[in-house]
Amino acid sequence: MENEQLSLFKLIHFNKQPDTSIPDKIHLSGKQRWCPYCSNKVIFVRDKKLGVKKCPVCSITEKDYWVKRVNKIL
Ligand SMILES: [Zn+2]
Repeated sequence: MENEQLSLFKLIHFNKQPDTSIPDKIHLSGKQRWCPYCSNKVIFVRDKKLGVKKCPVCSITEKDYWVKRVNKIL
Protein backbone atom coordinates (compact mmCIF):
# COMPACT_ATOMS: atom_id res chain seq x y z
CA MET A 1 0.00 0.00 0.00
CA GLU A 2 2.83 2.34 0.78
CA ASN A 3 4.18 1.90 -2.74
CA GLU A 4 0.86 2.86 -4.26
CA GLN A 5 0.86 6.09 -2.35
CA LEU A 6 4.34 6.86 -3.58
CA SER A 7 3.36 6.36 -7.20
CA LEU A 8 0.33 8.62 -6.75
CA PHE A 9 2.59 11.29 -5.41
CA LYS A 10 4.76 11.07 -8.51
CA LEU A 11 1.80 11.98 -10.72
CA ILE A 12 2.33 15.56 -9.67
CA HIS A 13 4.58 16.98 -12.31
CA PHE A 14 7.10 19.41 -10.90
CA ASN A 15 9.07 21.40 -13.44
CA LYS A 16 12.77 21.38 -12.76
CA GLN A 17 12.99 24.44 -14.91
CA PRO A 18 10.10 26.72 -13.98
CA ASP A 19 8.07 28.53 -16.64
CA THR A 20 9.53 31.95 -17.22
CA SER A 21 6.22 33.49 -18.24
CA ILE A 22 2.52 32.70 -18.25
CA PRO A 23 1.47 30.93 -21.48
CA ASP A 24 -0.41 33.28 -23.86
CA LYS A 25 -3.69 31.36 -23.83
CA ILE A 26 -3.92 31.36 -20.07
CA HIS A 27 -6.30 33.89 -18.59
CA LEU A 28 -6.12 34.31 -14.85
CA SER A 29 -9.04 35.70 -12.94
CA GLY A 30 -9.41 37.03 -9.43
CA LYS A 31 -6.99 35.40 -7.06
CA GLN A 32 -5.68 32.90 -9.55
CA ARG A 33 -1.95 32.74 -10.11
CA TRP A 34 0.15 30.79 -12.53
CA CYS A 35 2.33 28.23 -10.81
CA PRO A 36 5.56 28.05 -12.85
CA TYR A 37 6.55 24.76 -11.24
CA CYS A 38 3.50 22.60 -11.85
CA SER A 39 2.12 24.63 -14.78
CA ASN A 40 -1.31 25.03 -13.25
CA LYS A 41 -3.71 27.84 -12.61
CA VAL A 42 -3.87 27.83 -8.85
CA ILE A 43 -5.03 29.92 -5.94
CA PHE A 44 -2.24 30.10 -3.43
CA VAL A 45 -3.38 29.10 0.03
CA ARG A 46 -1.95 30.38 3.27
CA ASP A 47 0.01 27.89 5.32
CA LYS A 48 -0.93 28.67 8.89
CA LYS A 49 2.27 27.28 10.35
CA LEU A 50 4.65 29.14 8.07
CA GLY A 51 2.52 32.21 7.45
CA VAL A 52 3.23 32.13 3.72
CA LYS A 53 1.02 31.32 0.77
CA LYS A 54 1.68 28.08 -1.05
CA CYS A 55 0.64 26.38 -4.26
CA PRO A 56 -1.91 23.72 -3.21
CA VAL A 57 -0.56 21.37 -5.87
CA CYS A 58 3.21 21.45 -5.50
CA SER A 59 3.64 23.46 -2.27
CA ILE A 60 5.99 26.06 -3.70
CA THR A 61 5.67 29.29 -1.74
CA GLU A 62 4.64 32.66 -3.11
CA LYS A 63 8.02 33.94 -2.01
CA ASP A 64 9.78 31.91 -4.66
CA TYR A 65 11.59 34.04 -7.23
CA TRP A 66 9.88 32.52 -10.27
CA VAL A 67 6.43 32.58 -8.70
CA LYS A 68 6.85 36.31 -8.17
CA ARG A 69 8.41 36.81 -11.57
CA VAL A 70 5.73 35.13 -13.71
CA ASN A 71 2.89 36.66 -11.73
CA LYS A 72 4.55 40.06 -11.59
CA ILE A 73 4.39 40.20 -7.82
CA LEU A 74 6.89 42.78 -6.66
ZN1 LIG B 1 2.49 24.47 -8.14
